[in-house]
Amino acid sequence: MNKEATWEYAPAPETTSVSIDDRYGLFIDGKFVASRGRTRFDTINPSNEKTISSLAEAGKADVDAAVAAARTAFRKWSRTSPLTRAKYLYRIARRIQERARELAILETIDGGKPIKESRDVDIPLVAQHFFHHAGWCDKLRWAVPGNTDPRPIGVCAQVIPWNFPLLMAAWKLAPALACGNTVVLKPAETTSLTALRLAEILEECELPQGVVNIVTGAGETGRRLVEHKGVDKVAFTGSTEVGKRIALACAGTRKRVTLELGGKSPNIIFADAAIDQAIEGVVAGIWFNQGHVCCAGSRLFVEESIHDTFVRRLEHRMSKLRVGDPLDKNTDVGAINSREQLDRINHYMQCGVEEGATINQSNGSKMPSSGFWCRPTFFTGVQPTARIAREEIFGPVLSVMTFRTPEEAIERANDSPYGLSAGVWTDKGSKVFDIAARLKAGIVWCNTYNKFDASSPFGGFKESGWGREGGRHGLAAYLT
Ligand code: NAD
Ligand code: MN
Repeated sequence: MNKEATWEYAPAPETTSVSIDDRYGLFIDGKFVASRGRTRFDTINPSNEKTISSLAEAGKADVDAAVAAARTAFRKWSRTSPLTRAKYLYRIARRIQERARELAILETIDGGKPIKESRDVDIPLVAQHFFHHAGWCDKLRWAVPGNTDPRPIGVCAQVIPWNFPLLMAAWKLAPALACGNTVVLKPAETTSLTALRLAEILEECELPQGVVNIVTGAGETGRRLVEHKGVDKVAFTGSTEVGKRIALACAGTRKRVTLELGGKSPNIIFADAAIDQAIEGVVAGIWFNQGHVCCAGSRLFVEESIHDTFVRRLEHRMSKLRVGDPLDKNTDVGAINSREQLDRINHYMQCGVEEGATINQSNGSKMPSSGFWCRPTFFTGVQPTARIAREEIFGPVLSVMTFRTPEEAIERANDSPYGLSAGVWTDKGSKVFDIAARLKAGIVWCNTYNKFDASSPFGGFKESGWGREGGRHGLAAYLT
């Protein structure tokens, strides 16, 4: 008999000894200040629903003050020598590395992602972005072909989501500062703590006051910021719905706009692919960060001849994923970021069942009694017209479909309003290049998935957004 052993693993919790204040202010003109309106809101730990801290909600007067501080700082910062700007960015990168553990713990407590991801993926990439852009400061003449006299744009309004809180802040801040711009950043309302900790790091690094300002608050604060008349450039990462509203609000103004929006990315598995590796790629594609990933491989296309075997092996692999305490070093899938997001995911799973697809869920681990949780899930027998095949769920839910020929795979993969990323799994190099060129996606990963690098441009086609972030292409958005 081939009976598998079952173990109860001992918990391996990361320490929580990180200092967190009871209340935080706004970071404006190099100082932490109270909001003018004195309005506050709480941020919670989504793995136990406990309140962690109270944050200031920035209103009109606060946003005005932050934009004014950024404008004043721009006069000097834009004329600061490139080598000096590089020194600041390099110093920030080093300090992030030194305080990496603290930042990773804070990210996990506030947002729910597994500590092994915040420790090994998010925070190292945050440091990498500052290092990479430190190197660009005195080489901007070579960044944009044809532009030998690049200048900064001015004051940038940057609004970011909750799925990679500090990483999205780094993606926005590092290129803006490298090019000589100043910034007002608004983190997402459920995950502001690491941005506020970064403000402390900027103070430690003696970044001149007003170069970076951080205002906390919800959508209304974000709206005030992007619509502010004193802003020269808007950089937004978030939902396609809000992105469209921002595009409308900025139309007809002088503002430059870049948008990194949603996705429903295809992951395509050919029968000749290395199956074990492809299974790992599917896992990384949809269950990394609870599926709260704009470029998640949420539509899986498997060549029909291997569908049944592939699905059986995927189910087995999924059953081994450990869902639970995000601070446990062995946890694979942490908490869903908010109750609102969990409701949305549950709604889609209900839809999938009603649409006639078959649901498969991992039953491996016991779920904690409080907090927001969702088991890794995939649906088979999904119709291409189903909502779970077309709309972004932003959770650990995968739709599995099939194809017979490469032509059919490309056609089905491109049949989406989005075009952020794609994965292609095959043993044949020639097939990779042919198919990658015909996929309407900003990023195509071949025999891998969810790989990020500061030197590699990231961004989408169609409703996935405008512009690129990272590398040479990302710098163009911060220069005139
Ligand atoms: P969201 O659009 O609701 O919120 C994103 C940010 O915008 C938050 O800080 C929010 O407070 C702010 N905001 C809300 N309404 C606003 C308004 N009217 N004006 C200005 N700012 C406003 O999205 P979310 O639920 O926080 O994040 C999930 C979405 O983000 C997903 O659709 C995902 O695909 C997308 N995303 C995209 C990328 C990318 O690079 N393409 C990366 C991460 C997340
Ligand atoms: Mn939180």
